[in-house]
Amino acid sequence: MESGPKSVLVTGSTSGIGLAIAKAFANAGYDVGLNSFEDEVNVGAAINLVKANANGDISYFQADLARKEGTDLVSRFIQRFGRIDVLVNNAGVQKVSPVDELALEDWEHVRSISLDAAFQTIKGALPDMKARGWGRVINIASAHGLVASPYKSAYVSAKHGLLGLTKTVALEVAEQGITVNAICPGYVLTPLVEQQLADQAKAHNISEEEVKNQIMLMPQPTKQFVAPEEVASMALYLAGDMARSITGTSIAIDGGWTAR
Ligand code: NAD
Repeated sequence: MESGPKSVLVTGSTSGIGLAIAKAFANAGYDVGLNSFEDEVNVGAAINLVKANANGDISYFQADLARKEGTDLVSRFIQRFGRIDVLVNNAGVQKVSPVDELALEDWEHVRSISLDAAFQTIKGALPDMKARGWGRVINIASAHGLVASPYKSAYVSAKHGLLGLTKTVALEVAEQGITVNAICPGYVLTPLVEQQLADQAKAHNISEEEVKNQIMLMPQPTKQFVAPEEVASMALYLAGDMARSITGTSIAIDGGWTAR
C-alpha cells in the first residue's frame, strides 16, 4: 500500500468505546475522522481529548446514522482525507423492553444505527479500498451478537445481523487486501450501559446496584467490566498488517461470558 499516514473513520466516536478507539488510532499517528449525530459545539471536549495526543489530522463529521447518512458520511471523509484505510462501525444504541411492548420505531432506531448504518458505510468505503487493494473494516458488535439476553430483542437481532454482514462482506473482498471483522465486547461501563441501569431495574424489579452485580456482571466470569481501551487495542491490532489473515471472524472480549 501507499506510504503516508493512514486514515480511520470511527462512527459514534464522541463517547465510550468509540472515543477510546479514536484516541488509540490518533496516538498511533492515524488521521482520524470522528462522528456523532451532535453539533460540533456540543462535542468539543471529546474532540479535544482525541487531539491531545494526536500525530495526524483530527476532523469531526456530524452525521445522524439513524437518518441513513452513512454513505454520505464516508464520501465526506474521503473528500477530506483523500482515502479511507480503516472503517470502524461503532455507533450503537440500546433499548430495553419486553418484545411485546417494544415500539416499531424503537426497533427500527436500534437496527438503523447498529446494522443499516454499517451496510451504508461499508458500501461507501469499499470502492476506495478495492481501488487501492488494502482496507480494514472493523464492526463493533457485542457479546449480544453471539448470545441473547431478555428484553433486548432489537439490539440482539441487530448485532447478530452485524455478524452476518461481517462474514458476508469478508468473503466478497477476501482477495482484495481487505479484511472485515467484528469485535464482541461484554459489558463495558460507558454512558450506553449507565443509561440502561434504570430501565433494567424497572424491567427486573430490582435496584440499579443489583442490576450491575446480578444482571451485568453475572454472565461475565471475571466479574469485571471490560475497559474501553481493551476494545480499542484490539481494533488497532486488527488494522495492522500482521492481522491480514484474520477476516470474517468475531473476537469476543467478554471476560469469558460466551465460553459458557
Ligand atoms: P456510548 O453511548 O457511550 O456511545 C455511543 C456513540 O454513538 C456516541 O458517540 C453517540 O454520539 C453515537 N451515536 C448514537 N446515535 C447516533 C446516531 N444516530 N448517529 C451517529 N452517532 C450516534 O456507547 P458505547 O457503550 O461506547 O457503545 C459503542 C458501541 O459498542 C455500540 O455499538 C455498542 O452496541 C457496542 N457495545 C457496547 C457495550 C457496552 O457494554 N458498553 C458492549 C458491547 C458492545
